[in-house]
Amino acid sequence: MEKLRFIAALWIAKISVIALKVTRHNGTNFPGVVAIKICPQFMKHIGKPKKVVAVTGTNGKTTVTNMILDALTIDGKSIADNKAGSNINSGIATSLIQNASLTGRCKKEWGVFEIDERSALRIYPFMVPDYMVITNLSRDSIMRNGHPEYISEILTRYMPKTTKLILNADDFFCANVAPENDRAYYGIERMDTDLEKCENLIQDFQICPNCHHRLEYEYLRYGHIGKAYCPACGLKAPEYDYAGCETDKVNMTINIKDSSGEETYRLLNDSVYNIYNVVCVVALLLEMGYSRERVKEFMSSINIIGSRYDFEEYADKTLYMMLAKDRNAFAVSRVFEYLSIQPGEKEIVLMNNNYSDAATWSENTCWLYDCDFELLKDDSIKNIVVCGPRAKDYRLRLLLAGIEKSRISWCEKEMDTPQELELFEGDNIYVLYGTDSLDLKDRVIGKMRTVLKNCEGGEKL
Ligand SMILES: [Zn+2]
Repeated sequence: MEKLRFIAALWIAKISVIALKVTRHNGTNFPGVVAIKICPQFMKHIGKPKKVVAVTGTNGKTTVTNMILDALTIDGKSIADNKAGSNINSGIATSLIQNASLTGRCKKEWGVFEIDERSALRIYPFMVPDYMVITNLSRDSIMRNGHPEYISEILTRYMPKTTKLILNADDFFCANVAPENDRAYYGIERMDTDLEKCENLIQDFQICPNCHHRLEYEYLRYGHIGKAYCPACGLKAPEYDYAGCETDKVNMTINIKDSSGEETYRLLNDSVYNIYNVVCVVALLLEMGYSRERVKEFMSSINIIGSRYDFEEYADKTLYMMLAKDRNAFAVSRVFEYLSIQPGEKEIVLMNNNYSDAATWSENTCWLYDCDFELLKDDSIKNIVVCGPRAKDYRLRLLLAGIEKSRISWCEKEMDTPQELELFEGDNIYVLYGTDSLDLKDRVIGKMRTVLKNCEGGEKL
């Protein structure tokens, strides 16, 4: 009976995949939702790839998943992935449905999946990853995720015992997940930009879990990310199995040491959080048994997808588009940090946490007060444009961060933001957007392109 129910669920879901294709509604997790509704044990019965790599963590998991996918694709692997769908159980189910035969056998040898941290209990009892990469665990939307320690405990509770973990040693929450599992640690040795004390508004790992003494750091990057130790009981962050050491931001390379040598790999982007992503992917690929030379080849051929970072040049101006996740103070602060050290004079358009959020969702604006808006108090930032239903909340937060009124522009409609730009000579315009408003972002960018092209032609607005 159970088997019949599974086959019925699979076939109906497969028909819905075709129907969605015909109606051009790709990329939803509807087939998975339907299948699980018909057969609650669907994830147990559906065929899984022989080898599975899972990527989880608060930030960076989409970028890391895509980099791994690119590398394994270059290597000629046949792969099931959830790139086009969601990262919860119905998204994974949808990918497995698309890659299944009519009897439910998986047609792909490999699976590379981005998995939401809180979906652990709905996925890992049914699909055991061979490798699990955890990028970091940090404060996210409080209403959805609570505290990173809570997320770390969920992962520990549901982690299959045979899964090999690839963990960020510079993040204590991450390093402490599932202590009984086989693991490899990666991290980045001291950098020129490191701090001794946290300068961010949030630092979620301050107290030693053994003796409750305050932790100290040999070096600290941001938040709780760095090399921590406890001066009272001697607890230390784990040693690196894969250590990023010399970073060359001119030639965009990083040297990474492993147990038997060192190699220079290409960096895809010079922000610290993207350097972590590179070290993480290199660690995984070496751990999977690829040679340093082969991993070097992979890294030289892959790119960060344009939906997360992109730029366009117009005569003397440049338009940058950067993802800054909605309601995620930790991630947005990293983007602000990056912007504050970029050369040249800038204008910034803040389009994250706009749109549907304010209109339909009651999450309060507390994340704005966890986020380091103070980093935007930099003379190189000439104009900050806030827009949308939350424009006044942003404006208030910027004023409280000490940013002069004259440097803040605001408008209620996002589509009006191009008119608020100063468009001075040598302008670097950064548009920061969240994942909740991608369509709107595209429309606003389209309008900006027209304005910038007109500027190129010497026309006044
Ligand atoms: Zn201690």
